[in-house]
Amino acid sequence: MGGTCLNVGCIPSKMLIYPADRIVEVQEADKLGFKARISDVDFKSIMARMRKFRRENRSHVREGIKKSKKLNFYEGEGYFTADYTLEVNGEEIRGEKIFIASGSRPFIPPIKGVDSVDYLTNETLLELKARPDSLIIIGGGYIAVEYGHFFAAMGTRVTVLEMADRLVLPEEPEISEILRRALSRRMAVHTGAQAAEVKRKGNGVTVLVKDKKTGREKGFSGQSVLVAVGRRSNADTLRVENTGVETDERGFIKVNRRLETTKKNIFTVGDANGQQMFTHVANREAVIAASNAFYDTKLEIDYSAVPHAIYSHPQIASVGLTEDNAKKEHKILVGRASYNDVAKGEVMMETEGLAKAIVEKETGKILGFHIIGPYAPVLIQEVVNAMTSGGHAGEIDQSLHIHPALTELIPMVLNNLEEP
Ligand SMILES: Cc1cc2nc3c(=O)[nH]c(=O)nc-3n(C[C@H](O)[C@H](O)[C@H](O)COP(=O)(O)OP(=O)(O)OC[C@H]3O[C@@H](n4cnc5c(N)ncnc54)[C@H](O)[C@@H]3O)c2cc1C
Repeated sequence: MGGTCLNVGCIPSKMLIYPADRIVEVQEADKLGFKARISDVDFKSIMARMRKFRRENRSHVREGIKKSKKLNFYEGEGYFTADYTLEVNGEEIRGEKIFIASGSRPFIPPIKGVDSVDYLTNETLLELKARPDSLIIIGGGYIAVEYGHFFAAMGTRVTVLEMADRLVLPEEPEISEILRRALSRRMAVHTGAQAAEVKRKGNGVTVLVKDKKTGREKGFSGQSVLVAVGRRSNADTLRVENTGVETDERGFIKVNRRLETTKKNIFTVGDANGQQMFTHVANREAVIAASNAFYDTKLEIDYSAVPHAIYSHPQIASVGLTEDNAKKEHKILVGRASYNDVAKGEVMMETEGLAKAIVEKETGKILGFHIIGPYAPVLIQEVVNAMTSGGHAGEIDQSLHIHPALTELIPMVLNNLEEP
């Protein structure tokens, strides 16, 4: 109970990353004029705390479901057998209105030999009782960089192998570059490195990588390998085609802005529709779909101000369009400021952090905002609020911002707008 977020996603990952952040802060304390040493990292108890929290919350959800009088709970994998009809545990169930919230699971790419090794995923790594001495991560997206940060802080020797030319591909290229530089101080980061084969080597694994430019093969060996190259839909196991629900070319369920599928009275929310795969989006979509299903409200989901965060070190937060995407449809202005352009950033000796705004030239409407640095997920909320109410760059500037505080970064960026 509780799905990906509680069991194998947001919550356990952030429970692990919080101590990792504190460890890196201590390791970097030198720059503030004091030396500190971490004498011991208790990997076992950090993992055990996460599992305990997860177990307790899972049982809270289960208790809540049990207490709900008008709810039948079937514990088993269900699948459609006919229109509006499912089978679960040998029993047939039907619904006049159906909400599909079947989520997603790790995508395992067809790399030669991958099934011959005990690879880790975001699910199985949470069961680890002992810290791996070395870990190769295939992938350089948000799951890869978050867990790369975690394991490096625990003392694991981490190697990240990303096929694309940069990490966290959906982010601004300059943010990817700052992240690469920062992570490279703590782990080996290889971009343009496509994993071609995975082999067992003694008690560990070797990943053979093809260099994108030279075509040459190189081997990377480690105790374990984590496959983190993306997510795939669960619509296949649910056999949605049996009820006339169509999927897109990636296997995710097709929906319109009202979250209606191609079949009347069947709605799909969350990762299952493959739109914006975050918990806060799934929650909002559920409210909209329920309203449309029962009150015929015809509400539409608006994805233009959906924020997301990456809890790597440094942290990343982003909302709206990137510069490249915005340029396709708008005349834009771009603003940038570094953390150390504001007093608090200077105080914190934050020399790398950056914030960037993309604004529509004629109207001043904020189209996108991207931050890398401490507290990025907290700082971005002001921009999200402004964007949600149709916000313009000037409105943020009119509010007073506490001095000195990192929030001064937001108006600073918007005061630096120029032609790209
Ligand atoms: C490592 C990781 C970290 C993440 N971190 C964040 C984060 O920090 N912030 C954030 O917003 N998002 C994060 N996400 C994404 C977030 O977890 C998902 O967007 C969210 O869980 C989607 O919710 P959902 O209800 O759509 O699907 P899910 O949570 O995946 O739930 C779907 C449920 O349906 C069940 N199911 C599937 N098929 C069937 C079937 N045929 N019969 C019965 N049951 C079935 C599944 O077992 C599952 O329990 C993270 C994801 C991962 C993997």
